[in-house]
Amino acid sequence: MSSPTGVVCPHCGWPDGAEPFQVVSAHPTATGGTLWTRCACGSLQARVVDEHGTRVVSRGRPSRAGC
Ligand SMILES: [Zn+2]
Repeated sequence: MSSPTGVVCPHCGWPDGAEPFQVVSAHPTATGGTLWTRCACGSLQARVVDEHGTRVVSRGRPSRAGC
């Protein structure tokens, strides 16, 4: 699958197109808005919302280390 809308979190596999695991803060703008969300694995994400939908523009590291 190479659909650009089917991206998942590389850390935990949470689909980026789904509802955010947790919305940290939301900043509405004239064209849509910016969402700061936290993934199921604890990584912080910046999402931009516009007329094309929502896309993840930045992703942090998970808060939990592996092993
Ligand atoms: Zn994740």
